[in-house]
Amino acid sequence: MKITRISVYQVDLPLEYPYWLSGGRLKFECLDATFVKMETDAGITGWGEGTPWGHTYVPAHGPGIRAGIETMAPFVLGLDPRRVLDVERAMDLALPGHLYAKSPIDMACWDIAGKAAGLPIADLMGGGSRTPRPIASSVGAKTVEETREVIQRYRDRGYVAHSVKIGGDVERDVARVRDVESIRLPGEIVLYDVNRGWTRQQALRVMQATEDLKVMFEQPGETLDDIAAIRPLHSAPVSVDESLVTLQDAARIARDGLAEVFGIKLNRVGGLTKAARMRDVALAHGIDMFVMATGGSVLADTEALHLAATIPDINCHAVWACQDMLTADIAGGRGPRNKDGHLHLPEEPGLGVEPNEDQLGHPVAVYQ
Ligand code: MG
Repeated sequence: MKITRISVYQVDLPLEYPYWLSGGRLKFECLDATFVKMETDAGITGWGEGTPWGHTYVPAHGPGIRAGIETMAPFVLGLDPRRVLDVERAMDLALPGHLYAKSPIDMACWDIAGKAAGLPIADLMGGGSRTPRPIASSVGAKTVEETREVIQRYRDRGYVAHSVKIGGDVERDVARVRDVESIRLPGEIVLYDVNRGWTRQQALRVMQATEDLKVMFEQPGETLDDIAAIRPLHSAPVSVDESLVTLQDAARIARDGLAEVFGIKLNRVGGLTKAARMRDVALAHGIDMFVMATGGSVLADTEALHLAATIPDINCHAVWACQDMLTADIAGGRGPRNKDGHLHLPEEPGLGVEPNEDQLGHPVAVYQ
C-alpha cells in the first residue's frame, strides 16, 4: 500500500468563550485547525488533525503545520502508511524538530493502518481498554466566584475531573485552591494547572501555603530546570505537560524524579507514534498520565482517547474534550462525545470518526 495523495485543509474553530492564558499571553477566540486527508492506492483514506491551542501557548503555529507538511510531503508520498515508523523516520529526516507539524500525518497513517487491519487504533497498538475515560474540564476563570461558576457549569454536563487554571497572583491562587478544595465532591479529580505562570518564588509560596491540602500542580514553572530547582522545597505532586515535548524530556523527568504525572499532548509531541514511547517511559517509572489533544475537534480528542485506551485504567487519570469548548462541529455529532463526563472508545476501525468534507471547504494544498 502506498500514500498517493495528501490534501490539506484549514478550518477556523471558534471557541465558545474567549480564552486568556496567564502571564500576559494574548487572548484568543478561535483555533487555527489543519486537517489532512491521506489517500492510498488501496482505496483506503485516513484523516489527521493538527490544532495548536492558539499561537501563544507553546511553540506551535497553525500556519507552521501547513508549511511543515509542504516540506515533508514529497518524502512521505509513496511510503506504506501502515509502516508508521518508516513514515516517522522520513519526516524526521526531512524536517528535524517541528513535532507539531508531524502529528497530523502520523495520525492519518494510524487511521489507515487501523482501517486496513479492521481494528480501532487502540487495539492495533496492542491494547484498547473499554473503560470510559473521565474528561477533564478546562476552568480558565480568574476569581473565586467565577471558578465556582465554571466548575458548576461543567458538573452540570457530568464532568468529574477539572483542570483549574491558576498562576500569576499568589494570594488569589491560594484563595482559589482553598475554595475549590472546600467544594470538591467525593471522587472528583482536580488538577491545578499553572501553565508556566509562576516564577520560582511564586511557585514556592503557593505550594507551601497549600501543603496541607495535598493537591497536584501542573507545570508549576517555565522549564524543567525551574521545576527541578523548587522540587526539594515543596511536597506537592507535580504533573508536567508543556515541558514534555521529546522522548529525552520524558527520560529526564523520569530519571530525575521531576514529576509524578505526565500530561501527554498528542499534537505537541508529534503524534501517537512518539507519544506511545513516552507512555512506556511513564509506566516503567510509576508515572501516571493525562492524555489529551493540544486543542481541536473531535478528531484530535479521539486520537488522544486511543492512546489513553492503551494505558492501564489505574494509570490514566483523564482525557480532554476540547470539542466541548468549540461552537463548530466538523463531524456532525459523530465520534466520541461527552457522556456523563466520559469519552467512550469508538469501535469502528481506524480513528473511528471522520469530518464532513463539505464543511472543510477547498483544500489549501494538495500533494501527489
Ligand atoms: Mg496543562
